[in-house]
Amino acid sequence: MALGYTGRFAPSPTGLLHAGSLLAALASWLDARARGGQWLVRIEDVDTPRCVPGADQTILQQLATCGMVSDQPVLWQNQRTAAYQVALDTLISRGWAYPCGCSRKDIETAIEATQAPSVARHQAAVYPGTCRAGLKGKPARAWRLNVQAVQTALDLPLATLWQDRRLGPQQQNVSAEVGDFVLRRADGLWAYQLAVVVDDAAQGISHVVRGEDLADNTARQILLQQALDLPTPQYLHTPLVLGNNGEKLSKQNGAMALDLQHPLRALNAAAQALGLPAMPEHTPIAQALTQWTTVFVRNSKPQPR
Ligand code: GLU
Repeated sequence: MALGYTGRFAPSPTGLLHAGSLLAALASWLDARARGGQWLVRIEDVDTPRCVPGADQTILQQLATCGMVSDQPVLWQNQRTAAYQVALDTLISRGWAYPCGCSRKDIETAIEATQAPSVARHQAAVYPGTCRAGLKGKPARAWRLNVQAVQTALDLPLATLWQDRRLGPQQQNVSAEVGDFVLRRADGLWAYQLAVVVDDAAQGISHVVRGEDLADNTARQILLQQALDLPTPQYLHTPLVLGNNGEKLSKQNGAMALDLQHPLRALNAAAQALGLPAMPEHTPIAQALTQWTTVFVRNSKPQPR
């Protein structure tokens, strides 16, 4: 089972590590170690306007202070433009990606025209496919995946199914719930979905371990892997650390940067959220990580939600 395990932690340097991202880092590291695999770090800095200068280096330092160092040179997504372009070109040449000239307002108007207002508000995120049949004179802004074209050509079911190692069987009808999603944004930046799929494959990632807030991206990523003839990794989505208000931890509700003076305290909190025992104060970091590794696999079996 250990053979061929490659895992990764893929932070976006839009801020420093906080309790939530440390949990994802620790879970991915422990899962890799528990299976005798390697663990890689990838800095997901495609969304350049949201990146904080220097946050990438600080995140790497924070990880190192917590005993987690990439087994291979760190990959920065800002170096990967050529690979993303090749992937987009492949999709275009297969007839599965199309340019979209819609502004946000155009999309809202199109949705409102076809649906009752209450439905439209609720489903505002579902792109109605306006430009699938051509730009009709509008200038191209973004590139989108033609989900139905991929599903038809590859004889895929409408619902994309996958097995999450913690959440159990999952499914999403991407056409109905998301629509033709963006591969390259109107501002010219590469979309997370395309970049993550290209890089997971390029780095040979066999197991993705990340926060549950990302779980609903998985079906889109599997579709893209299928469209690009790339393998699908196994997925495990970890529990989220909630802020004081019971909502997902974010900078707004008190996701504090980790206190590097006390890495064991930060790691203990993450470990406990993963159902692992806290280690006594002054336990060396390496020893704590080794002990958690031995119990991690037992706790990552699928559980009822
Ligand atoms: N870069 C993403 C984030 O920081 C994580 C992507 C992933 O793990 O697939 O939220």
